[in-house]
Formats: sequence, structure tokens, C-alpha cells
Amino acid sequence: MAFQNDIFEWCRDHRVHHKFSETDADPHNAKRGFFFAHIGWLFVRKHRDVIEKGRKLDFSDLLDDPVVRFQRKYYKSSVVLMCFVLPTFVPWYFWGETVWNSYFLASILRYTVSLNVSWLVNSAAHMYGNRPYDKTINPRQNVFVNIGAIGEGFHNYHHTFPFDYSASEFGLKFNPTTWFIDFMFWLGLVTERKSAPKEMVRARKERSGDGSS
Ligand SMILES: [Zn+2]
Ligand SMILES: [Zn+2]
Repeated sequence: MAFQNDIFEWCRDHRVHHKFSETDADPHNAKRGFFFAHIGWLFVRKHRDVIEKGRKLDFSDLLDDPVVRFQRKYYKSSVVLMCFVLPTFVPWYFWGETVWNSYFLASILRYTVSLNVSWLVNSAAHMYGNRPYDKTINPRQNVFVNIGAIGEGFHNYHHTFPFDYSASEFGLKFNPTTWFIDFMFWLGLVTERKSAPKEMVRARKERSGDGSS
């Protein structure tokens, strides 16, 4: 429904982004400007370094996952169905919207807004905001991105402690993505949520933070 490419491709680009942040090997290198980091990177071929350095990372765990393989195999048809057909069908069938209204609003506008909000994590959250955890890297804490991307604006934290499932030290602040994972944990569908220990976060803030909180 999100149509942000399949899980394998998404995770591959994302791992390369973390490993080689703000270099030519970063698929959406924010040093190439807001537009490139936001959407421009999808309009051009990948930089040679993205492909060459990306090849050195291991993605076998992703392909070992049957859900990843299933989604990748049926990706094109599921995108057509979930991102375009279903959102058009529901308002048309259930409360009598015209087909074009349903298509342009529930499908196209929803898709456009959700993409742009997600991309703000790569553009705005790599340029504007404070850096309480590591002032030497570009990713920042950005309140607006956080609200738009439902909990993904704690980007300085996320790049400093990328293994933390919550992408934030504030589980109870506005972070619906964390609430969703916690709910799945409660249902027993998620195990081994990793978080950075409080003491590690505090020490890191003192050592490399910019003094903000
Ligand atoms: Zn990330
Ligand atoms: Zn990032």
C-alpha cells in the first residue's frame, strides 16, 4: 500500500544509507542537497559507489525470510491492488463517491502525501534540527518530520543507535511506529526488541552531543 519498493529493496537501500551516510555511496546523500535527498535520487541512476560499496554488505538474512520472498515475488500485482485498486474501490462502493474522486483523493493524493512525508526523513531530518546525541553527523531531531512520519523524526538518535527498535529514547512521546511494534509484541508477533541502555545514551550525549536535549 505504501508503494516504497519491496521490503528487500527498501532494506538494502536503507542499510547502505546507514553504512555510508552522506557520501557518494549513500543512495540519498543529503550532501547533494535537499531536492536530491528528498526525491531526486529516484530520478537518476544510482551513483557507482552505491552499487560497488553496497555489494560488500550482506543481505542474505533478508532473502532467508519467507515474508520478504513472498512480497518480492508478488510485488507488482500487490501494488496495483493495494495502492491503487483498493483505495479507489472502498469509497466508491461503500459510500457512493465517484470513481475519479476516489482515485485522485484516496489513491493518488494519499500516496503523494505519504511519500513526501516519508522522504522528509531523508531530506529535512538530515538538514534541520538539533543533535543531542552526535553533533558530528548530519541527521537531526526534527519535530515536524516526527509528526508527519509518525515517529521517525528522532533521526540523530536513530543514526547514533541504529539498532534501537524504537528509533528514539522516548517510547512514550509521539511515536506511533513504536506503539505499533509494542502492540505486535503484546500479540506475540514480535520478539527481542532491542533498545540502547539509558546509561549508554547518557554517556554518548555527554561525549558527542551538542548540549541540547
Ligand atoms: Zn534508518
Ligand atoms: Zn538517515
